Amino acid sequence: MGLDQYWRKRDFGRTPEPRGVVAKRKGRPRRFCVQKHAASHLHYDFRLELEGVLKSWAVPKGPSLDPSVRRLAMPTEDHPLDYGDFEGVIPEGQYGGGTVLLWDRGTWIPLDDDPHRALRAGRLRFELRGRKLRGAFVLARASRDDGDGARRPWQLIKGDDASARRGDEVTDRRPESVATGRDLEAIARDRDRVWDSRVGEIGRAPRESVPKGSRPRPPTRAREVPEGDEWLHEIAVVGERALARVDRGRIELRDARDRSLSRRFPAVISALREVEVERALFDGIVARLRPDGTTAAPIPSDRDVTYFVFDLLHRDGDDLRERAYEERRQALEDLIAGSTSSPHLRLAGAFVGRGDEVFAKGCELGAPAIVSKLRDAAFGARSAVRIVPCPKRTAAAAPRLTKPDKLLWRDDGITKRDLAEYYAAIAEHVVPHVRGRPLTLVRAAGAVEDGGADM
Ligand code: MN
Repeated sequence: MGLDQYWRKRDFGRTPEPRGVVAKRKGRPRRFCVQKHAASHLHYDFRLELEGVLKSWAVPKGPSLDPSVRRLAMPTEDHPLDYGDFEGVIPEGQYGGGTVLLWDRGTWIPLDDDPHRALRAGRLRFELRGRKLRGAFVLARASRDDGDGARRPWQLIKGDDASARRGDEVTDRRPESVATGRDLEAIARDRDRVWDSRVGEIGRAPRESVPKGSRPRPPTRAREVPEGDEWLHEIAVVGERALARVDRGRIELRDARDRSLSRRFPAVISALREVEVERALFDGIVARLRPDGTTAAPIPSDRDVTYFVFDLLHRDGDDLRERAYEERRQALEDLIAGSTSSPHLRLAGAFVGRGDEVFAKGCELGAPAIVSKLRDAAFGARSAVRIVPCPKRTAAAAPRLTKPDKLLWRDDGITKRDLAEYYAAIAEHVVPHVRGRPLTLVRAAGAVEDGGADM
């Protein structure tokens, strides 16, 4: 159906809704969103990116996580992809006039071989990776024909999987905006602040360029790995923290102090060139991957390095920094998995689940530290990233010794040489467990107590 119908129904001189264009996917993950729409009737608009637009259904009662609940979903016209980020007010008198709350967003994975055909056939299965909606769902068209095939009702049904919740009304439990935390009243009240000027003319404020000069915040040092499902845990990667900026073929790698690393690591630059994206900003750590699977900080002459990426801050005009870490990471995963096989670019591993288990296992296998990140946090959010060093006695593998007399544990008077000797003493016990695993050490710029690790 394209966007013709969408355009016909709207007067862009009067509405601040984005005008949009039919977008090309180009290896990006497909997006979905759910907008709570207080128009003549309150309803939820359920939208899936497909064929360069947002395929849309109006769901009067909103989605449910209860697999025994079938929610009526009336197909509505396709919307432009830009609309998926819209939260604001549509002027009275316009089509859909009222308030729009961005209730959920994320990415979706088709569970049919050919989602286009599945959609036409009236039974589309998919997995949602949003903040509130997760896991398998199906959209199924009712078999009965009311005479107008295009307006036949559909049903939105949760698949019965681990993310199903019987008797739960997620729309009641989590009514807030996924973008701003606001309710409909606040969005209506703030209308001028959120959507102003120009948008009615050209669709939207000009697409953002890749931000320059972003500085990653060092992790907060903690004593214990946080518990709870809201955390994602990663094995600390050792090396140099680096942001990679891709801008239409121009690629730059910069360290945490915004100094260029591009000339030092040409292999990383080449690997980034293979990623199918026009503009992007990655966050990660450049490390030397050793034959035994551990990593170490690269020294100046190292060329054969690997860029372990764990965050995506910008993608083709979309500033992702305010999005949930998990959503950014998912976007990163989809981007990397689909577009490069270079050994110089890797996604850093992550674990959802019990922090104490990840910590115990990770440390046992020789990880230097566990990094825990709040799944819902925006980039740079305070206390959203914590690092917990593993107990000294289980750290493994010897770093090359520059400044052997440097005090690593100031209070205990332990130097780098002491640590190396300790490594040597325990190597025969530890190395068999870490051999062949992509484990890494944290390079600490200062003493361990300073939290001076590069990740
Ligand atoms: Mn609507």
